Amino acid sequence: MTDSLTRILFQKLVAMGGDDYENGELVIDQGRIVEVRSGVSESFAGVTHDWSDCLILPGFVNAHCHLSLSGLQGRVARQERFVDWIETVVAENSALSWRDRVDAFHREAQTLVESGVTALGDYFSHPELLVEYQALPFRQMLFLETLGFQSGLAEEKARSVETLLREHPAGAGSLLQLAVAPHAPYSVSPALFKELKSLADKLNCRYSCHVAEVEEETQFLSRGEGDFLELLTKREAYDSSWTPPGVSPVRYLEQLGVLRDMVAIHLNYLEESDLNRLAENNANAVFCPGSTRWFGRKAWMPVKILLDLGVSVGIGTDSLASNDSLNFLDEIRLSEEMVPELHRSEILWLATIGGSQALGIEKMGLESGQPADLIGFRFGNSEEDWWNLPFDPVRRQVDFSMVAGEVIFQKSNIKGGKQ
Ligand SMILES: [Zn+2]
Repeated sequence: MTDSLTRILFQKLVAMGGDDYENGELVIDQGRIVEVRSGVSESFAGVTHDWSDCLILPGFVNAHCHLSLSGLQGRVARQERFVDWIETVVAENSALSWRDRVDAFHREAQTLVESGVTALGDYFSHPELLVEYQALPFRQMLFLETLGFQSGLAEEKARSVETLLREHPAGAGSLLQLAVAPHAPYSVSPALFKELKSLADKLNCRYSCHVAEVEEETQFLSRGEGDFLELLTKREAYDSSWTPPGVSPVRYLEQLGVLRDMVAIHLNYLEESDLNRLAENNANAVFCPGSTRWFGRKAWMPVKILLDLGVSVGIGTDSLASNDSLNFLDEIRLSEEMVPELHRSEILWLATIGGSQALGIEKMGLESGQPADLIGFRFGNSEEDWWNLPFDPVRRQVDFSMVAGEVIFQKSNIKGGKQ
């Protein structure tokens, strides 16, 4: 964070829900916005970034990813059965060298930065990677991913999660917060779901899970059979004392008492009654268009209906084991293709404010008092509607990006820069 005042000159600023401003300035002190206004002061005692030919938006929030799996790019083919894909991911992930894992992690973090991501919701399972996360320039909500279908393991697993969370409390001004993620209803016992939920409530941290990603999950929960039974049995991870609940994944989680405030990832295969259930439980949703398309899913999240019910919805890339790229601009373009009933400005809302609400990070609406996390797009033609800029089909990068008042990326051909 810089000590002196900083200001940004802009052509247009859209706060995504707040006010819009034209030909104005945004002033930053200690990483936070202190003023936004149309019109430019003649004198300013501080650093000026002249981006007066640019559109400014709140930064993008990639609300679901597994950055540590980036080294699996190109190593995991699509498979007929989801469980075969899981087995390949597990095998390739354990064969990945630490050096390759860390190199790919940082390479892809840079892809996120350049494509405008200023906050990331990431699932991770290697605590040794925390030092690498700490080196990243953007805000992060890091979910410690936990598996365990045998109920006898629940307490021990939850205690080790608790130890890690207590060892790494988010310090004041830290860009990084830790959170909890039971992996999925087919890989986590009811006891572990409950232990982790009470831990999240006790430590006041976010709680997330992959939910209703595939049809086989519904089959497993309704009758206790199918591919997941086979997978768990083969891996000697099944628990024969488990009784299939006979209901949908969302309803199952509600019955366990763990759906409240959950950050639910995917939600591809929902029953109609699940929609209200999610809203009533104040659950949040993360839509992963690239991953859903990569797998060739037949159904995906009814984004518009959930938004109309008041559910916070964000957008996530998921990992490079099930997506061809972590470029976030690809995800917003694909969101438009997959959810054509949304206007481009609404998709940009999901990509920014929706994601920050879903992850439970600070308000990111470019208002006074909020963090200066923002991105810029240069106007090619000043008559262009602002919402079209991020959707340019050949665009791979934003023109600049800032987190907590620090410029973390700037295209070399941009007009302005410091004065
Ligand atoms: Zn995932």
